[in-house]
Amino acid sequence: MTEDAKKLIIEWIDANHQPFDELALKIWQRPEIAFEEMEASRLQMEFMEKQGFKVSRPEGSSPTAFMAEWGSGGPVIGLLGEYDALAGMSQVVGAEKKPVAEGAPGHGCGHNLLGVGAMLAACAAKEALAKGGLNGTIRYYGCPAEEQLVGKSIMAACGYFEGTDVSITWHPNDFTYVTDATMTAMVSAKFRFKGRTAHAGASPEAGRSALDAVELMNVGANYLREHMVDQDRLHYVITNGGLAPNIVPAEAEVWYYVRSPHDAELASLFSRLVNVARGAALMTETEMEYNLIGGCYNTLPNKVLGNLLEKNLMDFAGSPGFDADDLAFAKKIQDSLPQAQVTASRAKPVPVAESDYVLASTPLPSWDSGRYVMGSTDVGDVANIMPTSMCWGATWPVGVPHHSWQAVACAGSPIGLKGTVQMAKAMAGSIYDLAKDPTIVVEAKKEFVKRRNGREYQPIDKLMAASLK
Ligand SMILES: [Zn+2]
Repeated sequence: MTEDAKKLIIEWIDANHQPFDELALKIWQRPEIAFEEMEASRLQMEFMEKQGFKVSRPEGSSPTAFMAEWGSGGPVIGLLGEYDALAGMSQVVGAEKKPVAEGAPGHGCGHNLLGVGAMLAACAAKEALAKGGLNGTIRYYGCPAEEQLVGKSIMAACGYFEGTDVSITWHPNDFTYVTDATMTAMVSAKFRFKGRTAHAGASPEAGRSALDAVELMNVGANYLREHMVDQDRLHYVITNGGLAPNIVPAEAEVWYYVRSPHDAELASLFSRLVNVARGAALMTETEMEYNLIGGCYNTLPNKVLGNLLEKNLMDFAGSPGFDADDLAFAKKIQDSLPQAQVTASRAKPVPVAESDYVLASTPLPSWDSGRYVMGSTDVGDVANIMPTSMCWGATWPVGVPHHSWQAVACAGSPIGLKGTVQMAKAMAGSIYDLAKDPTIVVEAKKEFVKRRNGREYQPIDKLMAASLK
């Protein structure tokens, strides 16, 4: 039987979610891209202060990052929030592609919901902890620039996560379940070559082509593919290939993303790629330099924390309560997608009820243990600093991909808001349980130490630099 203090979470959220909904819509209406989230972070800071949280920003931190804290003593429980939008994704709340403003940003990843949902969980958990007379500190993290995969690593470098025991987060999606999969570690780096310009027709022998170096580096990288693990990824674009064919390019640049399932393998792969670049420079008698633009760790699932979140999702949070209007809107949105995409998304290794084929309101049991997701998130950095668990929450119809106009439309609709409320209930229930029984924190930490294999977290650039031979 659920205790009264925990039950308060559901009552409090049902009675108080409206200003949170309004905040999520306000952020949706003013989409700001990575590192430009001045308005979203300001609105959230003010809101959390009004809710009785103490807002702080360490020295040297990004202007759009913050922490809002309430409570005393342990355990110290973190909730990760985000609020950045995507460039060029402007879209109205409607079932046809139509921007609010051509070329403007839009919330194609639902981060307007993500951050506010975590805030709602923090505020509801605060009420329940106070009522239950439980010790514990709740920290809501306002994290910028997730779309550039660097916000949380910058926050880590500023000491934001010190003293936090565990963290919980969620992300908008088409199905609801706690993920136990690994999202890949990733680094982004630009390689620049410097050669010598010359007339390409009259005196080619005098030139040393930086573009040749870029092309040979790419050839080398493409041969390297043959000798990487299956889940490794390399992608590149040439960002500077010279100015005109009759001038031997003295400068050229190629931009790489490198992904691998685990940070140590990523470091090894990156070091091999740097050797390929060095080889290209040697062959062409050019000079090479590179700079790391950013990167993130792979996520590190935590079963102890994941099981707790799943229990609260299944037995405590209840249904998002989608109604006939939501379903009708969802059907129209789904009809705008290729059928194969919808069919593929419905096909899960666990049963999906037919009633959830359009809009999924039933949480699925976690089904992706041991799998790799070929995408990355800076939640990975936090997950390698402390035990972390993430839940996907249905806030758009089945088959809708992240970063699509359909996702933007739903993130500004009642479907998005209702899914967010359900996630907040599951996360707040988990916070209550952690405060009530801190041995769960101890167990989660034991698992974390085992999975990290005793290695200390270090920022991704230091990790990459240390791997170079
Ligand atoms: Zn996202």
